[in-house]
Amino acid sequence: METRAGLSLSSRESGILDSIPEPVVVVDRQRAVLAFNGAAAREIGVAYPGRALALSLRHPAALAAVEEVLAQGKPRTVEVTFRNPAPRTFSMVAAPLQPGGELTQGAVLVFHELTSERRAEQMRADFIANASHELRSPLSALVGFIETLRGPAKDDAAARDRFLDIMAAEAGRMTRLIENLLSLSSIEADEHLAPQERVDLAAILATVVEVLSPAASARQMHLRLEILVPLPAVFGDTDQLTQVFRNLVENAIAYGREGTDVLVVAHPVERMAEGTRPGVVVAVQDHGEGIPRDHIPRLTERFYRVDAGRSRKLGGTGLGLAIVKHIVNRHRGRLTIESEVGRGSRFAVTLPAAPPP
Ligand code: ADP
Repeated sequence: METRAGLSLSSRESGILDSIPEPVVVVDRQRAVLAFNGAAAREIGVAYPGRALALSLRHPAALAAVEEVLAQGKPRTVEVTFRNPAPRTFSMVAAPLQPGGELTQGAVLVFHELTSERRAEQMRADFIANASHELRSPLSALVGFIETLRGPAKDDAAARDRFLDIMAAEAGRMTRLIENLLSLSSIEADEHLAPQERVDLAAILATVVEVLSPAASARQMHLRLEILVPLPAVFGDTDQLTQVFRNLVENAIAYGREGTDVLVVAHPVERMAEGTRPGVVVAVQDHGEGIPRDHIPRLTERFYRVDAGRSRKLGGTGLGLAIVKHIVNRHRGRLTIESEVGRGSRFAVTLPAAPPP
């Protein structure tokens, strides 16, 4: 391609552009598209060489940046968001082809996608907003009761006892929430480091069942552990795996119907799904209300609940399954959730078995 400024790109140079995975567009002094690569065509819809840049890149801030580069001969970086077909954000670096004021014959524009970074930032912001909101409601309850106890209920012994019970429950909720937030952040911090110790899952499950049996009995439920075949060891972190099964069994007790059984079944499998390695499956099954299908994929998101009011009434923080997911990921395992509304749910964790010592 020749341009009026006499600039051209050899086929070798065009080939180099095409092997760059990020969108690249070259414009000449007349603001016409001199060249672009496949990524620019695919990702930002640049279509014809020779066409005015303003027709190919409909973004005022990006065009203004190009003007400045052509006028000043210095590189500029701007953030550009394209709304169609789906919103995508890029950082666009525009650099002069021949640096140095009037000598600039054109500009090269390189786009680096920021969409996933922006999404991660948004998720962090949402998380902080959610966590603050969750902490604020028990805190306002505490403040409210303190005022009542200082004023209207000062000399009412019966009201005082009742309010103190509620205050203790609200303080407990805040404590649980903070403990869950802390464990979530410590699990995330070393999620990339798979545990190295061999642990005995059967012993972990026996402890969890023993600790939670009184909670099950309180709802006339029977908590059963079924391990028919000896389990191979897994590489794991005993405290974290205890937390996984504790969270799952606590949920089964909370969301199961009163008077029903909660079953914890564990057995070895020859091959993990999508793999060749042997594993161990531990499934926690309840007979409860079940979970509507649409909700299942989102259950492991932080603070996601099918029924927030109900979860709070049961003392839930909405973080239990997020913790489960991160621990299972750290153990290179899988979590599968199956549920039928009105019948119950099954939460299964598959962990890779450790090879025999
Ligand atoms: P929570 O503290 O609310 O229990 P979790 O992260 O443990 O938080 O669970 C998220 C949501 O998933 C719960 O609020 C509930 O709606 C749903 N859920 C979890 N386990 C079960 C279960 N065994 N049966 C029905 N729903 C469940």
